[in-house]
Amino acid sequence: MSGVIVLGEARRGELRPVSLELIGAARAISEQGAGPVTVALIAADAETYVEQVNRLGVQEVLVVPTPQPQFEAHVTQAALEALIEQRRPSVVLAGHTIDSLGFAPAVAARGGLGFASNVTGASWGEQGLRAQRGAYGEKLIAELDFPDKQTVLLLLRPGAFAPAEGSGSASIERVELDLAGRARTEHLELRDPPTGDVDITKADFLLSIGRGVEDEDQVAELERLAERMGATLSASRPLVDAGWIDAARQVGQSGKTVTPKVYLALGISGAVQHLVGMSKAQTIVAVNSDHEAPIFGVAQFGAVADMFEVAAELERQFE
Ligand code: FAD
Repeated sequence: MSGVIVLGEARRGELRPVSLELIGAARAISEQGAGPVTVALIAADAETYVEQVNRLGVQEVLVVPTPQPQFEAHVTQAALEALIEQRRPSVVLAGHTIDSLGFAPAVAARGGLGFASNVTGASWGEQGLRAQRGAYGEKLIAELDFPDKQTVLLLLRPGAFAPAEGSGSASIERVELDLAGRARTEHLELRDPPTGDVDITKADFLLSIGRGVEDEDQVAELERLAERMGATLSASRPLVDAGWIDAARQVGQSGKTVTPKVYLALGISGAVQHLVGMSKAQTIVAVNSDHEAPIFGVAQFGAVADMFEVAAELERQFE
């Protein structure tokens, strides 16, 4: 038992960013002693992604073609079970995504594997694999190990691990598995959700507002300010709960995980449920009238100030 299998995830012809994060995490535990990293691409168009993952310092890429063009959870489940049976890896990493949630718990249960979902940290040591994940509504971090488990399957939270970079050239193997008849659903079409006008996970610059706003009318003002600054407006949960802002813009545990270059937080206290969604932003700037607000604990730049005074000054600067 050795080595790490990473399950690459793609959609609509593109490798999803979480795949690079999984490889980054896999390389880190590989360097700590978990063994070589293999990326498994299970998809009808798996070949398309080989070049991209091949360059990321992994040892092997497995191309596993599927009969149907779209992702189907039972097909991926059957393929992954076969790979685990053949390869007997110590660790399998997949994204904590809607796709993986459709098959990974079943793979773990059927195979008797160690398993943890929504994982935010992973390391390899003398005792084998260790994982961290939030507990009690993210108020605590739980540290997990997996005694007596030969293989452990982890679902890593998107945005929680640094994406892999670098160069290299892996060996590439095509694995033909008998996956015919495994699908239990028929894919009809992909449709964008009605709220799909904004994708805060792709924004480089987020102007994020919280309960400090106090008045619904201010939201439109701040959205105009965001546009002027070239930022996308996002928010903490109370503004979504109040119906002041669309749920697609919510950052945090029950919203989206974002990793912009700049996260400018106005009137957000920094509750743990908010921090888990934005603390990996490259630069965090916080404005809060309370100098003890926890958001200052993760911010590189902070101002103890009235957010409306700061907003007014920004209006002037970006006229
Ligand atoms: P508050 O905590 O009320 O903070 C408002 C801040 O504004 C204060 O720090 C105050 O000092 C400051 N302020 C007030 N007036 C001004 C002013 N004029 N100028 C400057 N600063 C000012 N929250 C999320 O955000 N995202 C989630 O996904 C999420 N998921 C959750 C899931 C669960 C299971 C639970 C239990 C909670 C979740 N929450 C989430 C809620 C979270 O616990 C907090 O309640 C929430 O993040 C607080 O939002 P806030 O910082 O905007 O409001």
